[in-house]
Amino acid sequence: MSVPLSDEFTIPTHRQIGATAHPEQDVHCTYLCGNSLGPLSKRSNLLIQQELEAWGTRGVNGHFNTHPYGRGWVDFCDHITPLFAELVGSKEKEVACMGTLTANLHLMMDSFYKPTSARFKILCEAKAFPSDQYAFASQALAHGLDPANAVLEISPRPGEYALREEDILDTISREGSSIALVIFSGVQYYTGQLFPIQSITRAAQAQGCICGWDLAHAVGNVPLSLHDWNVDFAVWCTYKYLNAGPGSIAGLYVHEKWKDTELPKFAGWWGHDPVTRFAMPPKFSPIDGAQGFQQSNPSILASASLLGSLQVFKEAGMMGPLRERSLLLTNTLETLLQQSQYFIPTTDVDKWSQQSSRPAFTIITPSDPASRGAQLSLLFIGDGLMQRAHDGLTSFGVIGDERKPDVIRLAPAPLFNTLQDCEQAAMFLERVLDGLAS
Ligand SMILES: *Cc1c(COP(=O)(O)O)cnc(C)c1O
Repeated sequence: MSVPLSDEFTIPTHRQIGATAHPEQDVHCTYLCGNSLGPLSKRSNLLIQQELEAWGTRGVNGHFNTHPYGRGWVDFCDHITPLFAELVGSKEKEVACMGTLTANLHLMMDSFYKPTSARFKILCEAKAFPSDQYAFASQALAHGLDPANAVLEISPRPGEYALREEDILDTISREGSSIALVIFSGVQYYTGQLFPIQSITRAAQAQGCICGWDLAHAVGNVPLSLHDWNVDFAVWCTYKYLNAGPGSIAGLYVHEKWKDTELPKFAGWWGHDPVTRFAMPPKFSPIDGAQGFQQSNPSILASASLLGSLQVFKEAGMMGPLRERSLLLTNTLETLLQQSQYFIPTTDVDKWSQQSSRPAFTIITPSDPASRGAQLSLLFIGDGLMQRAHDGLTSFGVIGDERKPDVIRLAPAPLFNTLQDCEQAAMFLERVLDGLAS
């Protein structure tokens, strides 16, 4: 099968989302929001139905090999780990399908963040996703540290929106001896910047730091080679580019170089050796590798949804062909947006905001395709302009997502978006801004 697999997904129609300004009400909308919540795949829908049927016709026996589709629930995630491993570039024992992103982040920090009086800082990007900021600060507090001292944030240079690699590497070499953990997002949720994961990891480890990654916006978006890049640990959710559905089950990676004895953990029965798990022994004997971190038996409905979606990725050939198509779509969308009469370069933002009341926007995502994934972040200049532009786009069925105060993120996902989606987005944005300019 070749991408895009638009027909494999159920995307809401204009009528369903109330896009009343679009002339074709029963055609699917321009869904550029897969970075926030991926759409429902028909495969996920089917697999969830099958699990409901298994539950209804087998009850508790569905846990084992009487499962009508051969996916007994006790080892359901064994169907997912090979696909996770392929997506993030790891061995199967290095990944686990479990929990939720923020909870997994806490588990990883519990095992990997071991501050000492000399080495106690957490280095991260400024304006990390709020859940991550809260996690970092609360982890510092749990160790009796003041987050104001313990959490070290790197900001872009004045007038810039993305972080420069050299600035990150300089900070690591300057402050390295006091840093316990370097943790960035693979792709920054607000700006869409793709960080150089390998070079940051290498620089952090050269200073004796642990290096972990939050891949919420990177997994299913850009190719990853976590094992070869020697990343210590990573976490991700599955409802963004992985299309597993709202709040679905998440993922976790731990490099195999970390032995269980080095990683004290908050244990649960699902991390226990499956051979003796149901003998219910009193002493915890963990599975070797990432799966030893599992605490609870996984939600099968969520896992079925994820499995369905990952099967679609597999049929699309995984991240090689998807990245190629992603570059085409995002570069096209960027070119079309830059042709807008309302587009201004980022360097003109300050000048423009002082002088003009005419609507304008810029793109704060790095223009180098190697430094971004699918997403472009449009920054609107002028009070309330973003909200009005967003409302206007929504009325034409262009679904991006707003990040207050002034950004709209548009992410053509290569699995289901098309060049036509990019054209529609650019065309309707122009029409909306024309309306606001007059
Ligand atoms: C989406 C996202 C989250 C969400 O966390 P959940 O625990 O899944 O609710 C956290 N961090 C980042 C960077 C994200 O992009």
